Formats: sequence, structure tokens, C-alpha cells
Amino acid sequence: MRFLKWAVRELGFTRSSDYQKQYINETNIRTAVYMSFIVLILEFWMIIRYVDQRPGRTFLEYFDGEMNYLILFSSGLILILFAFRHIREYKNFILGKILSAAVIILDAAMMARYVMKNKADMSVSGLLLGMKYLILLMLLAVAYHVYECFFIKKNIRSDIYGQMMNILFGVICLGFGIETSLYDISKQRQILCFVTMMIFVACMLIWKPYVSVLILGVAFLRFYSLWVPSLIAIDEAGGKAKDGDTINLFTFWIVLVMVSISIYHQRRLEATKDEGLIQANEALNRAAIEDDLTGIHNMFYFNQESVEVLNDPDTDYTKKIFLFLNVENFKTYNDQFGYQEGNEYLKKLALMIRDTFEGEPVARQSDDHFVVLASTETALERTEAIRDRIHGARQEIYLELKVGGFKPRSRDADPRVAVDCARYACSLIKNKYGVNYREYDDDVDSRFHKNQYIVNRIDSAVEKGHIKVYYQPVVWSETRELCGLEALARWDDPTYGFLSPGVFIPVLEEYRQIHKLDKCIFEQVCKNMREAMDAGRRVVPVSLNFSRLDFELMDAVGVLQECVEKYNIDKDMLHVEVTESALADDDGILSRAVETLHKEGYAVWLDDFGSGYSSLNVLKDFRFDVLKIDMKFLTNFEKNEKSRIILDNIIRLADGIGMMSLTEGVETEEAAKFLTGAGCGRLQGYLFGKPMPLEELHAKINDGTIKVSDRLI
Ligand code: C2E
Ligand code: CA
Ligand code: CA
Repeated sequence: MRFLKWAVRELGFTRSSDYQKQYINETNIRTAVYMSFIVLILEFWMIIRYVDQRPGRTFLEYFDGEMNYLILFSSGLILILFAFRHIREYKNFILGKILSAAVIILDAAMMARYVMKNKADMSVSGLLLGMKYLILLMLLAVAYHVYECFFIKKNIRSDIYGQMMNILFGVICLGFGIETSLYDISKQRQILCFVTMMIFVACMLIWKPYVSVLILGVAFLRFYSLWVPSLIAIDEAGGKAKDGDTINLFTFWIVLVMVSISIYHQRRLEATKDEGLIQANEALNRAAIEDDLTGIHNMFYFNQESVEVLNDPDTDYTKKIFLFLNVENFKTYNDQFGYQEGNEYLKKLALMIRDTFEGEPVARQSDDHFVVLASTETALERTEAIRDRIHGARQEIYLELKVGGFKPRSRDADPRVAVDCARYACSLIKNKYGVNYREYDDDVDSRFHKNQYIVNRIDSAVEKGHIKVYYQPVVWSETRELCGLEALARWDDPTYGFLSPGVFIPVLEEYRQIHKLDKCIFEQVCKNMREAMDAGRRVVPVSLNFSRLDFELMDAVGVLQECVEKYNIDKDMLHVEVTESALADDDGILSRAVETLHKEGYAVWLDDFGSGYSSLNVLKDFRFDVLKIDMKFLTNFEKNEKSRIILDNIIRLADGIGMMSLTEGVETEEAAKFLTGAGCGRLQGYLFGKPMPLEELHAKINDGTIKVSDRLI
């Protein structure tokens, strides 16, 4: 059984992969170039010699006498044309058509001549047999001519044609070898021609081993059967040629078969190795240009492709637009259905976007963000189609598609910058109900540059003291006396003037630079407090705003500790404010930080309570000392009866779970009175003082406008 398997494999009955087939075919074709070249030269030389040795003959006599050489010469010519054509793809290779047509005509002429000369003495089958090589040559020439005229344009793979050409050529060569060996003058020497042709066909053209065995077997038997009579003649004349030559001949046959089998396996092994390398390479290439999750292109490929599209002289770049697509609310999808399903949806979405913008560069940038280099004429219509399908995706969840657009201003626009601009335009319509598309225009441009300015200048702003702390009073509701201050950052810029946190905080957070600002604020607050104490002033606790990212980008607690130690400040003089939204999607970093802050002795306040949708969960999972009720409950306070009921309940809720409450944004006496009555301990808002520089605060305390309470906690 094992032997059988081995034999099956060794004889080449196992299936080869397409790549292996192609590899061997290509090797054959390349070999065919050399072989046919040798044949051409050799036969040409033979013809010349023939003419040279037989002066005074007529043209037709030469024609008859040269038949075999002419056939071999022509088949060599056909093969070299084919090989040449296969290796080099010329658009219009007219020479190939002319030459193959010429061979067809020549061959037909030879056939006609043969028939005319012999038709009197031969039957039809005898004529056909006599013309066997002419017929083979005709097949070869016609096959090539058809290939040249009909298939080449359609780019049909020439594997089968290659095999066919090789087989026909092989048979012609072998036939030529056998006949020349047998019928030429000096028999002993002419055997060389047979041997050469055999090696030629068996080893140079790589056949499957069983085909080699078959071809060589048939050719040998044929040669042997024709040769025996002449050997017998020699034996009868007294020589002992038959046995010796028969043994030599068969030894040669076996060696040749072995060599050709071994060459086949060697080539196949090379092909296998090559295929492995190519597959590995392809996988690497794919990984380099494909997005892992969705399988559509990644940004690396997108950037390259976009450069190509824009640089193409046929492209009108003013009709192109970079689109940035963002699926809003996708996080809720993940929360509700799980990551797995979220990923599945992203894949579907990616394919849908790719298909909608078929033929245009499309890629996934990250998360639920996609980019396209679209045509301006169809861009909006197509995004509209995608939006419709997104709306219909799930009834339980409302997903929205927000799109930012950027029109390249020149052919050599950098796609990375263009995508950044489109993304920025898109970020401006985030959470804006009913606005789904924003193009990057001059207005957006100036905002964008301002943002870039902010990101690029934060370091120097910190260094040069452009970041300032403003303090806003917090008062006891009962006495309206100062019990604390909130530190709020201001950026006093030499170019843009006074920047409000509403402008620079979101930018610094987006570009993950916010910790630089906060560190600077901690430092200033501690420094101010130390100076006030040294000057003999009474100080009140200051609350510091922490961004969620502070805990990721730096050791926020450690940095705070350092400041406290450096300026020797009491820990209960500093409160940490953490916003509710920061805690909503906490992955553990923040909850651990809150824990540590408590342990270290800092009070932690929950900022902006009620501004998000997860308020109650946050209360359940974390412990806070003070609940800062968001100022949105006070908008339209006078007219809105519901606000009072809600505020009243929040304050009672806080009390119930052992937290103190503070309401921010108090602007009217009416609101202040209501909140005092409802039991809210602390108040903060313009009614008691806007955020102000330290000097102004000191002045107000000095002149009695602000009275510092005796009770601070
Ligand atoms: P926040 O922490 O909720 O700060 C309260 C904001 O409400 C401040 O705006 C304050 O000026 C404003 N405000 C106070 N009372 C009233 C009032 O009666 N009426 C109205 N309409 N507004 C009032 P500001 O200073 O512009 O700060 C905005 C936000 O920027 C802050 O909201 C805070 O989240 C963030 N922020 C400010 N400074 C820093 C900081 O140093 N670090 C960090 N990470 N964030 C900061
Ligand atoms: Ca705050
Ligand atoms: Ca707040």
C-alpha cells in the first residue's frame, strides 16, 4: 500500500496546485525559447550545408530534399514565437501573425507537393502516414495562429496552449530524431541525432513523470523496432552488435527516464517552496493594506490610493471630496448587544459603504469611522442611501450617520490632512440633532487652525504663564458666606486673546494634552494657597477639576501629592471634581483613582450630576462627598415647575445616601431661596460671584463684598 502511494506520487499522479502547474509551464516556455533558438540555428545551418554540398539542383529538388529540416525549422520558429509572445505581452505583435501564416502556407505547399508526387503509387492512408510530420507542423502552426489572432486580446491564460505547443513540438522533434538516425548514411553515428532529440524533449521540457515514461517508452520502442532489422544485418555480416547495442540503448532509456523524473520533482519542489513564499508574502501584503476587523482597506492603502487618484491626469480634482463618516451612538449598540455583535455590524457596515462607493477609495479609519474619496456629484446622494440603511438597521436603537466633507484644494493635497479636516468638520455637528453633514469651509478652517494652535501651543502657554487660574466662590446657602472656591482655567493668549475653557478643554482632551493644563492648575492653586497662608490670610478649600484623561495620561494622584507636599498644604483644603460622564464608561482606572484619593484624605466631588443619562448608576457604584447638581436644572427655573420637583428630589436623594449637595449656576435670588429651602447646603453661581482672578477675589474679601465663613466643612 505504502509502495503504491509512493509510486503514485513519484510518477506524478498527485494533483498539482494551479501555481505549481503554472510554474512548470512557465519553466517549459522559457526552456522552449532556448531550445527553439538552438533548433532554428542548427536547422538553418543544416539547410545551408545541404545546399552547399549539392550544387546545381533545382529549387524543387532542394525543397523535397530539405523536407525534414524545413519541418523542424518551422516548428522551432512557431515555438519561439509562442514563447516570445508569452513572455512579452506586446499589444500588437503583427510579426507573429505574418510568420505563422507563412508557415501554414509553406506547410500546405509541401503537403500539396507530396500528394502530387505520390498520389499515383499510394493509398490515402499511405499518403497521410507519409505526411505525418507535415500534419503535425500544420496543427502547430494553426494552433499558434488561432492563439495569436483570437485569444491573446482576451488575455486567456496560455497554459493549455503552452502544453499543446510543447507536445506537438516534442513529437516532431522525436520523429525527426528517429527518422534522421535511421535513414541517413552512417548509421552508427546518426544514432547521436536520436539521443540528442530524446534528451532535448525529455529533460528540457518538463513533463509529468508518467508522461515522460510514456513518451520515452513509445519513442524508444519505435526506434528499436525500426533499428533491429539494420542490427540484424550487421550481425549477419559477422558483428556482435545486436546484444551490446540493445543493452546500451535500454540503459540509456532508463537513465533518461530517471533523470527526467528527478528534474520534474526538483522543479515541483521549487514551485512548492516558491508558492509558500508567495502566499506568505501575499498574506503580509494583505495585512498591510487591509483593516483587520472588516477586511476593507486600511488608512495606509487609502492614502496611497487617494494620492494616485488625485494625481491621475484624467481626474478633475475639483470634483473630488474627502468624506469622513461617523456612526453616532454606536457605543450604545455595543453596550446593548455586546462587542461580538457590534463587530459583526461594523463588518456589514464596512462592506455596505464600500459597495455604495464602488470604484472609489474607501477605508475604515478606526472604531466606527470610515473615509471615502468620493465624487462631488454623487457623494451626498450615496451617503444619504447609507444613512437610510443605518436608520433601518435596528428598531431598538437609533443610530445616526454624521458626515464631514473636505474638498482638496490642489492635486497634491495630502490625504492625511484632508481626512483630518473632514473629520474635524464632522466633529462640529456631533450631537446636533437634524444636522448630518458639514463641509469644511472658511469658517471651519479658522476654527480648525485655532484648534491646531491650541494643541501646538499648550506647552509654551504653560511655560510662559498664559494659563491662569480664576476662582469662583462657593457659599453656604444659609449664610451666603464663602465656604470654598472652584479653580477654573483661563488661557490669556497673545494672538487670540482670552480663550474660554469651553474652547480649549475639548481640544486638549481630544488630542490627549489635557493633563499638561491640569498639572499647571494644581501647581498654581497650591502656590496661591501657600502665599495666602504665608501672608496671614484666611484660606478656604479649593476644588480642582480633573479630566477623565488625567488618570490615563499621568499619575494624577501622584502629581497632586507632589504639589501638596511641595507647598505644604492640608489635604482637606483641596477637593477633586470628577464629572459624571467620565465615570459612565469607566474601565476601572477611574474607580481605583477615586478610591486612592479617598484613602489619601481628599474629598471627591461628583460634578455635573444629572447632565448625562447614567447618573443613578454612578451614585450606586461610587462614593462621593459632595454632589454638584448640574446647572441645566436651573435654566428656565422661574417658568418651569418641573425643575423644582426634580431639584427637590435630587437634594433629598443625596441626603438619603449621605452626600452633601451643591447646586451650580445659581443666577437669581428666587432660585437661591428655593434651593436653600429645599435643603441644598452649598450654592455656586453668578449671583454670588463670577470666576475671577485671585487679586479681584482678595479685593472683594477685603472690602467685605465677600465674607469668609468661619465654618469650612
Ligand atoms: P464646570 O466644572 O461645570 O464649571 C462650571 C462652569 O460654569 C464654569 O465655566 C463657570 O464659569 C460656569 N458658571 C458658574 N456659575 C455660573 C452661572 O451662574 N451661570 C452660568 N451660565 N455659568 C456659570 P467655565 O469656567 O467656562 O468652565 C467650563 C468647563 O470647563 C468646566 O465646567 C469644566 O468642566 C472645564 N474646566 C474649567 N477649568 C478646568 C480645569 O482646570 N481643568 C479641567 N480638566 N477642566 C476645566
Ligand atoms: Ca467643575
Ligand atoms: Ca459643573
